[in-house]
Amino acid sequence: MNPFVGGTERDLAQAVAAWSASLTERIPAAEKDGMIPRDVVAELGRLGVLGICIPEDDGGLGGSAVAFALVLEELAAAWPSLAVAVAVNSGIVAGSIVRSGSPEQRKRWLPRLMDGSGLGAFALTEPTSGSDAAALRATAVQDAKGWRLDGRKQFITNARYAPLAIVFARVGKLDESHRTAGITAFAVPLDAPGVSVGPPEQKLGLKASDTSALSLDDALVGPDAVLGEVGGGFALAMWALDGGRINIAAQSVGIARRALELARTYAKERKQFGRPIADFEGLRFSIAKAESNLAAARLLTLRAAWLRDRGKPSTREASMAKLFASEMAQRATHAAVQIFGGNGYMRDYAVERYARDGRATTIYEGTSEIQRIVIARSLIAA
Ligand SMILES: Cc1cc2nc3c(=O)[nH]c(=O)nc-3n(C[C@H](O)[C@H](O)[C@H](O)COP(=O)(O)OP(=O)(O)OC[C@H]3O[C@@H](n4cnc5c(N)ncnc54)[C@H](O)[C@@H]3O)c2cc1C
Repeated sequence: MNPFVGGTERDLAQAVAAWSASLTERIPAAEKDGMIPRDVVAELGRLGVLGICIPEDDGGLGGSAVAFALVLEELAAAWPSLAVAVAVNSGIVAGSIVRSGSPEQRKRWLPRLMDGSGLGAFALTEPTSGSDAAALRATAVQDAKGWRLDGRKQFITNARYAPLAIVFARVGKLDESHRTAGITAFAVPLDAPGVSVGPPEQKLGLKASDTSALSLDDALVGPDAVLGEVGGGFALAMWALDGGRINIAAQSVGIARRALELARTYAKERKQFGRPIADFEGLRFSIAKAESNLAAARLLTLRAAWLRDRGKPSTREASMAKLFASEMAQRATHAAVQIFGGNGYMRDYAVERYARDGRATTIYEGTSEIQRIVIARSLIAA
């Protein structure tokens, strides 16, 4: 029996953990190449991991947000770049199509996001609009053949693997009194005329996760490319990012957990002053504090996922989970590097990679500052 199907959420996560541990030796070469090997993506598809959150009627595993969070924790513990790629494909991209896609769009795109032939992209950020996503400038104009898109998207995860990107563009002029008006989501095939992907960004971490620009130059897509309603794109993006933030929180938990596991093992082996450094109270306190915060972050993450699974309001809880878990991951990975001493700064030990990879978690899908704004707004009425 395929261990990825039919078990509990925990069984699924354990199966993913066992499989992803088998990739360890491949990570250095893939990080150098700047790509997750295609056969690894294909295997994720074959195992069903890419379809975890896709309903069974659409061919997926029909798993919950809780199951996905547990799986992402395991993927991130094994290889953060892989977790990011899966989170974008199977979380915000597939999730948006499940939520707003027509039956034809679901039939066309969901199998391709699940089968491991590629990884979908979510294209919201532009050179002049990041945190202020409603200021996006990409435009969409309808003509007799369909929709013509113009604009430039930047920092787009999976762009070089993608069969499709969900592109957010504005129909009509920017109205400063209602800035989200006209923003529309389009399911854009990456082989559509006028669509091009830029060279991969050179990043601090997450080096095997592709991050590239996406240009739309009079790009032509069919009349059926609109995802949901014209003008409904901003609400869809925010709904997707509520889920995405839970997924980044789960990644943060996985990153911190593995960095601390590595540090604990090292501390028991490394001797100074004639004793394992794990005997020193200063170091033990650092581990105790980091592990306590890790446990708290996991609970916040699972609470937000549980609420989302039940269709309950979860925007604030998702932002709290992302804020707390991503900042926890900064502290935990830095503490882990410190425990390794000089070795922690060297590429020979994986712990430095977790510190670099974890750095992005306080930035993408809404910075820590934006999470604080979301949390405060929900608590203090304007
Ligand atoms: C590795 C990586 C992958 C990414 N993948 C994707 C992707 O797949 N798709 C996609 O669309 N985007 C993606 N992004 C983009 C990411 O979501 C943005 O970088 C992020 O939202 C921040 O936007 P910005 O970079 O434009 O920063 P800015 O918005 O310019 O912010 C700069 C600084 O100002 C702060 N700031 C801004 N506004 C406020 C405010 N009102 N109050 C207080 N502080 C504020 C920010 O918190 C930040 O510290 C990715 C980014 C990275 C690093």
